[in-house]
Order: sequence, then C-alpha cells, then structure tokens
Amino acid sequence: MDFIVATKNKNKIVEIREILKDFKFNVISMEDAGFDDDIIEDGATFEENALIKARAIHKKINGFVMADDSGLSINALGGAPGIYSARFAGENASYDFKIKKIWEMLDEIKATDRSASFICAIAVVMTDGSEFTVRGECHGQIYTKIEGYNGFGYDPVFFMPEYNMTTAMMPPSMKNEISHRGIALKKMIDVLEKKLGDNLSEI
Ligand code: IMP
Repeated sequence: MDFIVATKNKNKIVEIREILKDFKFNVISMEDAGFDDDIIEDGATFEENALIKARAIHKKINGFVMADDSGLSINALGGAPGIYSARFAGENASYDFKIKKIWEMLDEIKATDRSASFICAIAVVMTDGSEFTVRGECHGQIYTKIEGYNGFGYDPVFFMPEYNMTTAMMPPSMKNEISHRGIALKKMIDVLEKKLGDNLSEI
C-alpha cells in the first residue's frame, strides 16, 4: 500500500525512503499521490503543523499519510528559528543567506552558548482516520564555519561534538541513524508495530 509522505522536499523523501527501506511501504510524495494544494501551516508547535499537513492530505486522498515538521532550535535564541526554520529569513532565501542570518543573530547577543537541536515531529493519519504523533531530537552546536557537502538546509553548520562532524559531513546512512528524523521514524515504526502487529507489512 502507498505510504504518502506530506512533503515537497525531495531530500526528505530520499531520507525517509532510505530509513524505511526494510519495510514494505511504498513511500510516495504527496505530489505523486496527486495532492498539490498549498497547506497553511499555522500551528504553534512542530506536532500541530505535522498534524495539519497529514490531516489535509488524508481528507482529500483518504490513504495512509505521514507528515513531518522539522526545524532547528537554537537555545541562545530561545528556540528560534524553530517552526519557522524554512521561512524565517524570507520564503525564497538561500541556505547560505539563512546560515549567515543565524550567525549574525548569535553575534548580536554575543552568544557563548551555541547549543542547538534538530527537532522532527511526525504525524500519522491511518487509513481508518486514527492518528498519532512522535518526536525525535538530536543535539549539537552551531558551527562557526560551513563544513560538509551531504544533507541539506542547516546540515553544514550543525556540528555534533561526539562525532566531531557536522551532519553534512556524515555519510547519509550515518545521519539517518542518529538524526532527529531517523529517531522519529523509528518511534513511528514502534507505534505502528504496537497498533498493527503482524499486519504492519501489509501497509
Ligand atoms: P519543514 O519542511 O517545514 O519541516 O521545514 C524544515 C526546515 O528545517 C528545513 O527547510 C530546514 O531548514 C530545517 N531542517 C529540518 N531538518 C533538517 C535536516 O535534517 N538538516 C538540515 N536542516 C533541516
């Protein structure tokens, strides 16, 4: 059965497909499922936004839908950019620009604490309309330079001291093991296993 992922972000689809490769899910994007309406993400939390996206698609397509809402939360900035990570510096701003903006915001407050988290909430709406959310987080620091070519978004400045790497320096399989999205997807599988048991492979 199709497992519709509520995102237009091709990088996310690639990561999610890779992480779920051992399951018989046919992971498809919302566009492949025939949904290209704009969804207004006006929730106050990652979980609310993920639910808004999953519900909107489920309402129209009535399939098995998963949505993720993710972002970067910087402690010295009170959790910003948080749910606004994709758009806080303007809808069409490049990641070079957004990263420079974050460095400037940290410089302005002369931040010595550069600790930050990647957060990912996943909402699932199942075929019968029942729903749940899970959250994954990974912790690191905002690096003072850009390092690494893998991943996307803020990966080149998200430094994880225990690996001595930014998430953009990690091979994709390594990032998927430890990332906010990888952790949230594993939690999602745990919940689905509890709910569906042996029927999980039938999804
Ligand atoms: P969303 O598509 O509304 O969930 O926005 C997520 C935004 O958070 C992305 O556009 C990135 O700016 C940032 N983000 C989320 N996950 C990652 C990641 O794994 N690496 C780098 N940036 C991320």
